[in-house]
Amino acid sequence: MLMINETHDINLTSWVSSANNESDFPIQNLPFAIFRRQGTNEEFRGGVAIGDQVLDLAVVANANIFSGSVQLALQAASQSTLNALMDLGEEVNSALRLALSKALRSDSDLQSALSPALISQQEVEFSMPCHIGDYTDFYTSIYHATAIGKLFRPDNPLLPNYKWIPIGYHGRSSTIGISGQRFHRPVGQTKAPDATEPSFGPCKRLDYELEMGLFVGKSTEMGEIINIEKAEQHLFGVCIFNDWSARDIQAWEYQPLGPFLAKSFASTISPWIVTMEALAPYRTVFTRPESDPQPLPHLSSEQNNQSGGLDIDLSCFIQTPTMRESNQQMAQLSKSNFKYSYWTPAQLITHHASNGCAMRSGDLLGSGTQSGPSYEEAGSLLELSKGGKTPFDLPNGEKRTFLEDGDSIIMRASCSKDGAARIGFGEVVATVLPAKV
Ligand code: CA
Repeated sequence: MLMINETHDINLTSWVSSANNESDFPIQNLPFAIFRRQGTNEEFRGGVAIGDQVLDLAVVANANIFSGSVQLALQAASQSTLNALMDLGEEVNSALRLALSKALRSDSDLQSALSPALISQQEVEFSMPCHIGDYTDFYTSIYHATAIGKLFRPDNPLLPNYKWIPIGYHGRSSTIGISGQRFHRPVGQTKAPDATEPSFGPCKRLDYELEMGLFVGKSTEMGEIINIEKAEQHLFGVCIFNDWSARDIQAWEYQPLGPFLAKSFASTISPWIVTMEALAPYRTVFTRPESDPQPLPHLSSEQNNQSGGLDIDLSCFIQTPTMRESNQQMAQLSKSNFKYSYWTPAQLITHHASNGCAMRSGDLLGSGTQSGPSYEEAGSLLELSKGGKTPFDLPNGEKRTFLEDGDSIIMRASCSKDGAARIGFGEVVATVLPAKV
């Protein structure tokens, strides 16, 4: 696990002045994305956010300012996906972070050399940060799992395996898109509880899920086990993840093999990946109530107990067509925190590889909906509308039980605490279009 070092120093400032003014992207953050200038045919390449600018890593690589492993990392980051950079592993990526931190500091003598590599974030468009070979969705909020379980199985909400293994399923990567995604309401087979037969048509219970996305860093071979003490060496970083869900399709199809078409029609990620190293100041303890089973030895370590969790504030907003047309503020639906997760990132990747499953750089692990213990911390409309029974009131007088055509969902994430620089993830936004029928 990467520890706090000089790159996290709260007193660091950058010669990129916008980084020093309440930005999501101060010099202590340095997240990665794939970008190009908007409306051009330029090749997509890697960039690092600093204030309201993007540092173009292909330009930096070509300038031959750096050498050794840092130059190797810059060349990997110049490609149209970050997979090669991710696969270089923790040590090389940490060296790159330190070099970029030093080069962007107020007192750096590299300012004149790096200034030509800056592009305003307002002038760029993003692409997927990596090729996502495989996507796995976990279910790590016990509050969400219990709330959903009560709705689908009132007599038996939380199944007995939940507290022993991180529950997950294999999803589809083919329909994961970058922030700005617009997708058609899915069509599928559903069956109302009082209907004698199912019918086929547009989803009536379309929902979002407020999640974190974890990107695999260094790959493993088939048959290779990941020790929990080294698990985070295989994690590159974290994004915000909206795992759109069709609740009526889900309710009819999910037994016996789990979610299928209710989940695979669209998912949206934020463009910036905040590295595990940037998150070092925001580690939290991993605890279990004494009445709960403690994790088996392969899913437990002293380090995981002390700092396996991540304290990341999450918030979710809606912009309805009425709000858009009337220039009204978007409305907050809920806020939560990743620290409520019942399992840590290290436990997720250790469990995933524990049968010898190969993990490949760029694979995406969804955290599962990050609902907290209170109603205001619910990470989906299914919970906010109490299973679709009580519409959720919006401040402009509108109501939502589930999503309507034209609705946009906006999610944000950030970390802050005394003694550390506040860092943000930016946002992920996506919009529901009418069903294609
Ligand atoms: Ca999910």
